[in-house]
Amino acid sequence: MEHKKVALITGIAGQIGRYLAELLAGKGYDVYGILRKKFDEPKQPEFLNGYKIIEGDLDDPISIERAILKVQPDEIYNLAAQSDAQASFHLPEYTLKVNGLIVLRICEAAERLKKKVKVFQASSAELFGGEYDGTVDENTAFYPKNPYAIGKLCAYWIIRYYRERYGLFAGNGILFNSESPRRGENFVTKKIIKSVAEISKGKLERLALGNLNAKRDWSHAKDTARGIWMMMQAEKPSDYVIASGETHSIREFVELAFRHVGIEISWKGSGIDEVGYDKQTGRIYVTVDPLYFREGEKNNAMAGNVSKIKAQTGWQPEHSINDIVGDMIKHELRVS
Ligand code: NAP
Repeated sequence: MEHKKVALITGIAGQIGRYLAELLAGKGYDVYGILRKKFDEPKQPEFLNGYKIIEGDLDDPISIERAILKVQPDEIYNLAAQSDAQASFHLPEYTLKVNGLIVLRICEAAERLKKKVKVFQASSAELFGGEYDGTVDENTAFYPKNPYAIGKLCAYWIIRYYRERYGLFAGNGILFNSESPRRGENFVTKKIIKSVAEISKGKLERLALGNLNAKRDWSHAKDTARGIWMMMQAEKPSDYVIASGETHSIREFVELAFRHVGIEISWKGSGIDEVGYDKQTGRIYVTVDPLYFREGEKNNAMAGNVSKIKAQTGWQPEHSINDIVGDMIKHELRVS
């Protein structure tokens, strides 16, 4: 009988973790997930039914080591993180620990298993620090500018160190922004989608945003999860950029979101006086609030070059920016 592959996902309850768990289960994996205990919530939320959940916290390395030794996985996907770069300014030490140093324990535990284990690390485009205007790839120099990215950089090198020194099958996925209906509440895309859904239902008057000209390379988290799995099936372990390869501005994202609820947005004014209004009625729906500006942010259009993952694994993104926004709006209209 063929061996059923066992996968262990940290961050299984997160946005990408849930898509990855679904993908792996669909491929016949036995899926285990690590979940940190929250006292006000059920031990295993309903959406995780069908997976085997182990309690663990990245802030407690012993719990993670024990989970690995117990599950004896074939593939470990380390997706858990303090994933909010802005919050990391206020939680620097904690962020460095759970985004960086914990990966040493994961690789060490993987090494101790008496079987060949693959380790995936969720790295980030934040490693580039928003410094580049144009396309970046796996060879572009890193310039992390917040504790989130410094932790991810530490993890990046731990993965390479175990791969190069110990021959561990370990790889970094350098992930660009990934969005979906499951995106966390504290991210701007989710805020836009939620507000647009509420405006369309008459529950909210206006949406206040920061820099409308900031540009991002946005992928659907489903595409990201598939890329993560595919890079772990490559013949040799390596590091891969996973992105859409194109950039769009916050302004475009807003326009698309409103278009999905039948409103065409036009713009007038400039700087903090700029507003977005309904072309038909003249009603103002979008304003600019300096409260949401990010210190030192440049208006660079940094896109990920996905030539390597395409050439080596055959991965292709399947969702356009319009698909992503449409998927998020459809979901939000249902729940808001
Ligand atoms: P997410 O939705 O924020 O999920 C992160 C998960 O990590 C959450 O389920 C969270 O658990 C868990 N977690 C946080 N701290 C933990 C701790 N101390 N112990 C155990 N679990 C902990 O993030 P995502 O969008 O799925 O991203 C997955 C990974 O990709 C992250 O490492 C992120 O940094 C990286 N990444 C994401 C993007 C993106 O745009 N999405 C881009 C680049 C890199 P709770 O549910 O308990 O909070």
